[in-house]
Amino acid sequence: MRRHLIVANWKMHKTAVEAAAYVRRLAPLVRQAAHTEIVLAPPFTALSVASVPAGRRFAFAAQNLHWEDAGAFTGEVSARMLVALGCTYVIVGHSERRRLCGEDDSVINKKILAATGHGLRPILCIGESPAERRQGQTTRVVTRQLQKGLRGITSQDARLLTIAYEPVWAIGTGIAASPEHIHAVHLTIRACLVKKWGARVANRMRILYGGSVNPDNVVAFVQSPEVDGVLVGGACLDPRTFAKIARRC
Ligand code: PEP
Repeated sequence: MRRHLIVANWKMHKTAVEAAAYVRRLAPLVRQAAHTEIVLAPPFTALSVASVPAGRRFAFAAQNLHWEDAGAFTGEVSARMLVALGCTYVIVGHSERRRLCGEDDSVINKKILAATGHGLRPILCIGESPAERRQGQTTRVVTRQLQKGLRGITSQDARLLTIAYEPVWAIGTGIAASPEHIHAVHLTIRACLVKKWGARVANRMRILYGGSVNPDNVVAFVQSPEVDGVLVGGACLDPRTFAKIARRC
Protein backbone atom coordinates (compact mmCIF):
# COMPACT_ATOMS: atom_id res chain seq x y z
CA MET A 1 0.00 0.00 0.00
CA ARG A 2 1.50 3.34 -1.06
CA ARG A 3 0.95 6.27 1.28
CA HIS A 4 -0.79 9.14 -0.52
CA LEU A 5 1.22 12.25 -1.25
CA ILE A 6 -0.15 15.75 -1.84
CA VAL A 7 2.09 18.48 -3.23
CA ALA A 8 1.33 22.21 -3.13
CA ASN A 9 3.05 23.97 -6.04
CA TRP A 10 2.97 27.65 -5.08
CA LYS A 11 4.64 28.65 -8.35
CA MET A 12 5.76 32.33 -8.19
CA HIS A 13 3.55 33.28 -5.24
CA LYS A 14 4.21 34.34 -1.63
CA THR A 15 7.09 36.10 0.08
CA ALA A 16 9.00 34.49 2.97
CA VAL A 17 6.80 36.34 5.48
CA GLU A 18 3.61 35.23 3.71
CA ALA A 19 4.94 31.68 3.57
CA ALA A 20 5.48 31.60 7.34
CA ALA A 21 1.90 32.84 7.90
CA TYR A 22 0.63 30.16 5.50
CA VAL A 23 2.26 27.25 7.32
CA ARG A 24 1.08 28.54 10.70
CA ARG A 25 -2.47 28.65 9.31
CA LEU A 26 -2.21 25.29 7.53
CA ALA A 27 -0.68 23.17 10.31
CA PRO A 28 -3.77 22.98 12.57
CA LEU A 29 -6.09 22.50 9.57
CA VAL A 30 -4.39 19.28 8.49
CA ARG A 31 -4.16 17.51 11.83
CA GLN A 32 -6.77 15.06 10.57
CA ALA A 33 -4.79 14.34 7.43
CA ALA A 34 -2.05 12.32 9.12
CA HIS A 35 -2.64 9.48 6.62
CA THR A 36 -1.30 11.71 3.83
CA GLU A 37 2.21 13.04 3.29
CA ILE A 38 2.05 16.79 2.64
CA VAL A 39 4.76 18.53 0.63
CA LEU A 40 4.92 22.30 0.14
CA ALA A 41 6.81 23.76 -2.84
CA PRO A 42 7.40 27.47 -2.23
CA PRO A 43 9.61 29.60 -4.48
CA PHE A 44 13.34 29.50 -3.63
CA THR A 45 13.08 32.79 -1.72
CA ALA A 46 10.53 31.33 0.73
CA LEU A 47 12.14 27.92 1.34
CA SER A 48 13.46 29.21 4.67
CA VAL A 49 9.92 28.47 5.89
CA ALA A 50 11.09 24.86 6.28
CA SER A 51 12.73 25.92 9.54
CA VAL A 52 9.83 27.76 11.22
CA PRO A 53 8.21 25.62 13.98
CA ALA A 54 4.88 25.13 12.13
CA GLY A 55 6.87 24.09 9.04
CA ARG A 56 8.07 20.92 10.78
CA ARG A 57 4.71 19.25 10.03
CA PHE A 58 5.53 19.34 6.32
CA ALA A 59 8.14 18.20 3.85
CA PHE A 60 9.45 20.79 1.41
CA ALA A 61 10.16 20.76 -2.30
CA ALA A 62 11.94 23.21 -4.56
CA GLN A 63 10.28 23.98 -7.88
CA ASN A 64 13.49 23.62 -9.88
CA LEU A 65 17.23 23.01 -9.61
CA HIS A 66 20.39 23.20 -11.71
CA TRP A 67 22.24 19.99 -12.57
CA GLU A 68 25.69 21.21 -11.52
CA ASP A 69 26.74 21.39 -7.88
CA ALA A 70 28.39 24.81 -8.12
CA GLY A 71 29.97 27.13 -10.67
CA ALA A 72 29.41 30.08 -12.97
CA PHE A 73 25.65 29.63 -13.43
CA THR A 74 24.16 33.01 -12.59
CA GLY A 75 20.71 32.78 -11.06
CA GLU A 76 20.78 29.01 -10.58
CA VAL A 77 20.45 26.86 -7.44
CA SER A 78 21.95 23.39 -6.98
CA ALA A 79 20.73 20.19 -5.35
CA ARG A 80 23.38 20.57 -2.67
CA MET A 81 22.04 24.01 -1.74
CA LEU A 82 18.46 22.72 -1.60
CA VAL A 83 19.38 19.86 0.71
CA ALA A 84 21.18 22.34 3.00
CA LEU A 85 17.95 24.41 3.14
CA GLY A 86 15.89 21.45 4.33
CA CYS A 87 14.32 20.33 1.04
CA THR A 88 13.56 16.65 0.60
CA TYR A 89 11.81 16.88 -2.79
CA VAL A 90 12.26 18.84 -6.00
CA ILE A 91 9.76 19.30 -8.84
CA VAL A 92 11.40 18.61 -12.21
CA GLY A 93 10.01 19.02 -15.72
CA HIS A 94 6.92 21.03 -14.89
CA SER A 95 5.16 21.91 -18.16
CA GLU A 96 5.61 25.63 -17.47
CA ARG A 97 9.37 25.14 -17.38
CA ARG A 98 9.29 22.93 -20.47
CA ARG A 99 7.24 25.55 -22.34
CA LEU A 100 8.50 28.88 -20.95
CA CYS A 101 12.14 28.00 -20.20
CA GLY A 102 12.77 25.56 -23.07
CA GLU A 103 13.59 22.59 -20.84
CA ASP A 104 13.69 19.41 -22.86
CA ASP A 105 13.88 15.78 -21.80
CA SER A 106 17.70 15.75 -21.76
CA VAL A 107 17.93 18.80 -19.45
CA ILE A 108 15.28 17.23 -17.25
CA ASN A 109 17.28 14.00 -17.16
CA LYS A 110 20.40 15.86 -15.99
CA LYS A 111 18.38 17.51 -13.23
CA ILE A 112 16.94 14.20 -12.06
CA LEU A 113 20.40 12.64 -11.96
CA ALA A 114 21.71 15.64 -9.98
CA ALA A 115 18.82 15.46 -7.52
CA THR A 116 19.09 11.74 -6.84
CA GLY A 117 22.88 12.09 -6.57
CA HIS A 118 22.24 14.22 -3.49
CA GLY A 119 19.43 12.07 -2.10
CA LEU A 120 16.78 14.63 -3.15
CA ARG A 121 13.49 13.10 -4.22
CA PRO A 122 12.50 14.27 -7.73
CA ILE A 123 8.84 14.69 -8.66
CA LEU A 124 8.97 14.27 -12.43
CA CYS A 125 6.08 16.01 -14.21
CA ILE A 126 4.96 14.58 -17.53
CA GLY A 127 1.90 15.04 -19.71
CA GLU A 128 0.62 15.77 -23.18
CA SER A 129 -0.20 19.19 -24.66
CA PRO A 130 -3.71 20.03 -25.98
CA ALA A 131 -2.57 19.37 -29.58
CA GLU A 132 -0.98 16.04 -28.63
CA ARG A 133 -4.17 15.06 -26.89
CA ARG A 134 -6.26 15.92 -29.98
CA GLN A 135 -3.92 13.82 -32.11
CA GLY A 136 -4.26 10.82 -29.78
CA GLN A 137 -0.57 11.02 -28.80
CA THR A 138 -0.89 10.77 -25.01
CA THR A 139 0.68 7.32 -24.63
CA ARG A 140 3.51 8.12 -27.04
CA VAL A 141 4.31 11.43 -25.27
CA VAL A 142 4.31 10.16 -21.68
CA THR A 143 6.33 7.09 -22.69
CA ARG A 144 8.95 9.28 -24.39
CA GLN A 145 9.12 11.68 -21.45
CA LEU A 146 9.66 8.76 -19.08
CA GLN A 147 12.23 6.98 -21.24
CA LYS A 148 14.34 10.09 -21.88
CA GLY A 149 13.79 11.82 -18.55
CA LEU A 150 14.74 8.73 -16.54
CA ARG A 151 17.70 7.57 -18.64
CA GLY A 152 20.53 6.25 -16.46
CA ILE A 153 18.58 6.24 -13.19
CA THR A 154 19.51 3.10 -11.26
CA SER A 155 16.87 0.95 -9.57
CA GLN A 156 18.36 2.11 -6.28
CA ASP A 157 17.78 5.79 -7.12
CA ALA A 158 14.39 5.00 -8.66
CA ARG A 159 13.16 4.52 -5.10
CA LEU A 160 13.50 8.29 -4.64
CA LEU A 161 11.25 9.09 -7.60
CA THR A 162 7.64 10.23 -7.82
CA ILE A 163 5.88 10.72 -11.15
CA ALA A 164 3.22 13.40 -11.58
CA TYR A 165 0.93 12.98 -14.58
CA GLU A 166 -0.12 16.51 -15.46
CA PRO A 167 -1.88 16.86 -18.81
CA VAL A 168 -0.98 20.37 -19.97
CA TRP A 169 -4.57 21.04 -21.07
CA ALA A 170 -5.76 20.51 -17.50
CA ILE A 171 -3.26 22.80 -15.74
CA GLY A 172 -4.81 26.04 -14.55
CA THR A 173 -7.80 25.66 -16.89
CA GLY A 174 -10.46 24.49 -14.45
CA ILE A 175 -10.94 21.46 -16.75
CA ALA A 176 -9.54 18.44 -14.94
CA ALA A 177 -9.03 15.12 -16.73
CA SER A 178 -11.69 12.48 -16.09
CA PRO A 179 -10.95 9.77 -13.50
CA GLU A 180 -11.16 7.18 -16.32
CA HIS A 181 -8.56 9.00 -18.43
CA ILE A 182 -6.25 9.41 -15.43
CA HIS A 183 -6.61 5.75 -14.46
CA ALA A 184 -5.74 4.63 -17.98
CA VAL A 185 -2.68 6.90 -18.30
CA HIS A 186 -1.44 5.91 -14.84
CA LEU A 187 -1.60 2.25 -15.91
CA THR A 188 0.53 3.12 -18.93
CA ILE A 189 3.03 4.95 -16.71
CA ARG A 190 3.18 2.06 -14.25
CA ALA A 191 3.79 -0.37 -17.12
CA CYS A 192 6.74 1.77 -18.32
CA LEU A 193 8.20 1.81 -14.81
CA VAL A 194 7.80 -1.98 -14.47
CA LYS A 195 9.51 -2.46 -17.84
CA LYS A 196 12.43 -0.27 -16.74
CA TRP A 197 13.01 -1.45 -13.18
CA GLY A 198 10.83 -4.50 -12.57
CA ALA A 199 7.64 -4.82 -10.55
CA ARG A 200 9.28 -4.79 -7.13
CA VAL A 201 10.74 -1.32 -7.58
CA ALA A 202 7.99 0.11 -9.80
CA ASN A 203 5.12 -0.90 -7.58
CA ARG A 204 6.57 1.12 -4.73
CA MET A 205 6.72 4.33 -6.75
CA ARG A 206 3.96 6.90 -6.38
CA ILE A 207 2.16 8.31 -9.40
CA LEU A 208 0.27 11.56 -8.75
CA TYR A 209 -2.32 13.39 -10.82
CA GLY A 210 -2.17 17.17 -11.32
CA GLY A 211 -4.41 19.55 -13.24
CA SER A 212 -7.25 21.68 -11.80
CA VAL A 213 -7.59 19.59 -8.64
CA ASN A 214 -9.95 21.13 -6.08
CA PRO A 215 -11.81 20.02 -2.92
CA ASP A 216 -14.82 18.86 -4.99
CA ASN A 217 -13.05 16.62 -7.48
CA VAL A 218 -10.13 15.17 -5.49
CA VAL A 219 -12.05 12.20 -4.05
CA ALA A 220 -12.97 10.94 -7.52
CA PHE A 221 -9.28 10.92 -8.50
CA VAL A 222 -7.79 9.24 -5.45
CA GLN A 223 -10.43 6.49 -5.50
CA SER A 224 -8.39 4.82 -8.21
CA PRO A 225 -5.77 2.50 -6.70
CA GLU A 226 -3.44 3.78 -9.42
CA VAL A 227 -3.59 7.40 -8.16
CA ASP A 228 -1.28 7.87 -5.18
CA GLY A 229 -2.07 11.50 -4.52
CA VAL A 230 -2.27 14.86 -6.25
CA LEU A 231 -0.18 17.86 -7.25
CA VAL A 232 -2.11 21.07 -6.70
CA GLY A 233 -1.41 24.50 -8.22
CA GLY A 234 -4.02 27.25 -8.03
CA ALA A 235 -6.10 25.65 -5.27
CA CYS A 236 -3.15 25.37 -2.87
CA LEU A 237 -2.61 29.09 -2.42
CA ASP A 238 -5.38 29.42 0.15
CA PRO A 239 -4.49 27.22 3.15
CA ARG A 240 -8.17 26.47 3.92
CA THR A 241 -8.82 25.17 0.40
CA PHE A 242 -5.58 23.20 0.35
CA ALA A 243 -6.34 21.68 3.77
CA LYS A 244 -9.74 20.50 2.48
CA ILE A 245 -8.04 18.75 -0.43
CA ALA A 246 -5.42 17.20 1.89
CA ARG A 247 -8.07 15.87 4.26
CA ARG A 248 -9.90 14.21 1.34
CA CYS A 249 -6.77 12.92 -0.38
C1 PEP B 1 0.36 22.69 -11.66
O1 PEP B 1 0.75 23.80 -12.02
O2 PEP B 1 1.17 21.78 -11.47
C2 PEP B 1 -1.07 22.48 -11.43
C3 PEP B 1 -1.48 21.27 -11.22
O3 PEP B 1 -1.84 23.62 -11.48
P1 PEP B 1 -3.42 23.70 -11.24
O4 PEP B 1 -3.76 22.88 -10.02
O5 PEP B 1 -3.68 25.17 -11.04
O6 PEP B 1 -4.07 23.16 -12.47
